[in-house]
Amino acid sequence: MHWCPKCETALAGYETTDSYKNVSDPSVVVMFPVSGRTEEYFLVYTTTPWTLPANVAIAAHPEKMYVRVKTARGVLILAKTRLGLLDRIGLSYEIVEELLGKDLDGLRYLSLLDVPVQRAVAQETGALRIVMSIRFLKQRVASKVGMKKDVETGDLFEDFVTDEEGTGLVHVAPGHGKSDNVVGKKYGLPEASPVDDACCLTSDAAPFAGKFVKDADHDIAQHLHAIGRLLHFERIEHSYPLCWRCKSPLIFRLSNQWFISIEPIKEKMLSDNENVLWQPSFAGERFASWVQGAEDWNFSRQRYWGAPVPIWMSEDGSEQLAVGSLDELRSLSSEALPLDFDLHQAGDVVLRSPSSGKLLRRTPDIFDVWFDSGSAPHAALGYPFQSKAVFESHYPVSRINESQDQVRGWFYSLMFCGVGIHGKAPYAAVSMPGWVVDSNGEKMSKSLGNIISGNDAVEDLGADPVRFYYCWDGAPYQLMRFNVETVRSEVTRFFTILWNLHNLVLQGSARLGSQSPKEAPALEDRWLLSRMESVVAEVRSAFDSFELQRAGRALYGFVVDDVSRTYVQYARERLEYDASPLAIVAQCLRKVTILLAPISPHLADQVYLDLGPVCGAKDSVHLETFPVADRTDVDLEERFARVGEVIAAGLACRDKVKRGVRWPCKELIVTTDDDALRMAVEQRADLVCRQVNVRAVTFRDVSTTISVKPNYRALGKELGERTGDVLTAFASAKERVSAEFSRGAQEVVLAGVAVPRALFAIEEHPPESFALA
Ligand SMILES: [Zn+2]
Repeated sequence: MHWCPKCETALAGYETTDSYKNVSDPSVVVMFPVSGRTEEYFLVYTTTPWTLPANVAIAAHPEKMYVRVKTARGVLILAKTRLGLLDRIGLSYEIVEELLGKDLDGLRYLSLLDVPVQRAVAQETGALRIVMSIRFLKQRVASKVGMKKDVETGDLFEDFVTDEEGTGLVHVAPGHGKSDNVVGKKYGLPEASPVDDACCLTSDAAPFAGKFVKDADHDIAQHLHAIGRLLHFERIEHSYPLCWRCKSPLIFRLSNQWFISIEPIKEKMLSDNENVLWQPSFAGERFASWVQGAEDWNFSRQRYWGAPVPIWMSEDGSEQLAVGSLDELRSLSSEALPLDFDLHQAGDVVLRSPSSGKLLRRTPDIFDVWFDSGSAPHAALGYPFQSKAVFESHYPVSRINESQDQVRGWFYSLMFCGVGIHGKAPYAAVSMPGWVVDSNGEKMSKSLGNIISGNDAVEDLGADPVRFYYCWDGAPYQLMRFNVETVRSEVTRFFTILWNLHNLVLQGSARLGSQSPKEAPALEDRWLLSRMESVVAEVRSAFDSFELQRAGRALYGFVVDDVSRTYVQYARERLEYDASPLAIVAQCLRKVTILLAPISPHLADQVYLDLGPVCGAKDSVHLETFPVADRTDVDLEERFARVGEVIAAGLACRDKVKRGVRWPCKELIVTTDDDALRMAVEQRADLVCRQVNVRAVTFRDVSTTISVKPNYRALGKELGERTGDVLTAFASAKERVSAEFSRGAQEVVLAGVAVPRALFAIEEHPPESFALA
């Protein structure tokens, strides 16, 4: 286990993956004497001299080439590819023999250190000899991830020994390394671990006993130097795991811990994850590959505070009992528990085994807090003792929402516990809010001075605008650039228009009375009411799918474009004499406030209450039921949008010749090949005439003329030194070029060069007294 010397507890694998740091460690090459030879040594490299008292074997790669070399320090054995090491330290050598790693298999050597643990190891058969390297599963590649990244699918392996680093001979200490432990198990080697909970060497490593392992490094190296077994010593910087709590370097040591086996549920976790909606989606793949590579869960910790592990054991460890409830504890207790028994005292209760009659005491371990996080939903409802039906009706929950660092944390612990207990995923959707960064996409930091605190933003801009901004600017799971100016301009615009529309209704309310709107006769009325229902549907689906930005945008578009810019304009004349358009606006605003209430609760409530006398209201908008979309007329909306384009083009013509809409014009000519557009406009000709203020809308072609001017810059860039000739030719061929482009030609030939249309500025001109848009 990885173990923190300061916290004196084990850490699970996922607790170490994020907290690596470069640290300085000794880097030593030591000489193990070959058994039965004089002055002959196996060279071994290590960065943890403190593990040398726990050495039980040396591993070599069977297929790699090794050499015996004669040197001033005796005959040394190492991988042939690693001879550079001797060059580097200035030790001259002569190769005596080349041999394969497998030729070394089984050769014995002598202990490097004369310490009690080594004397014990030397008694074990099979220890202190050369063993052959084995292959390890390095990474399981989920087939889906593999395919996406275009890498070979399947698992990745690596060798315990390579001839690319160190000396090609690897010190094996199964008590102090994960892969060493696998090698040790494979060859039946002893597991020496002369290190206590505080990570000090024990009396088994005397004379180094009592030393903190990292301090012992130096003493051991010095001792080896004194007895002539140290070939080289230097310090190196390398990446090393630290404790996330206290930042102490972690030590690998053997300790007895509790594990939950993942293999029985791993496949189910992976297959259920396929059905979880991950937002953003890449997180789902990241999660799958994390689960794919996950190992058994070490859930026990040696800390004081925490939920006690409810396992009782016999003195000799042969019997173990997990207690699942207070009733069970009472029935197993060796003494009767009082009626008001406090569960905090459970740790002191001694049980009597129902099968053997042995006394059982509770293990002093507590749970990994991540286990708490995975089981919290059960604990919160008292499941399975209370609220069983409530819990089950909420399982799986529809959504959980947390930051992206929880892929290996809470999302994982929930999935593990959920699938482990109930056999199915505990959640249907996972969303991970994106980080908030500044308007340039830079992380907010004190040193950059670009931090905007949430409180300041709310104070400065108002809670409602800030909240609206977050439900409009981008998807909640994307990186969120916070731009104060956008809130000030765009969001304020939306709020102002909404407020002005509400004023419009209030000012006209005398005319409205308490009369509800009559059945909407006018086309634009039907269109707006249909649009309103489409917006209800869109906002609902946006909330359901956690695409909040779609909700904000739908409301923005409806209020600013549909109601204010389009409908109020279209109905402007009617507003003078007819109360029904105002009633329709009031009805729409009322619905808008209900849709807006979860986003901008204060403004929504104010507008809603103000409109109360006009269209009825409860005590607050927040008491309303969220609306469900009524029938919409999609076809009408589509045609209306097209008619809107024609009206906009008509108004643009007026702008071009600076003729205000009060001045009637004779004719709006629409030139189109699109029959659907023609039909839509013909059916709504009255509306178009009224809006553009023309006497008639007609459909026909108008012969326009075009003017062609060279785009000098583009021509020069494209044609280089031929530009001059082309321009001269153009000057005398303007008519022809214009005619060709009018017919739709994509290039013209000038001075023998085919010149593309894009290199000219071409303008279309209508006949006299017409404007074109
Ligand atoms: Zn620690």
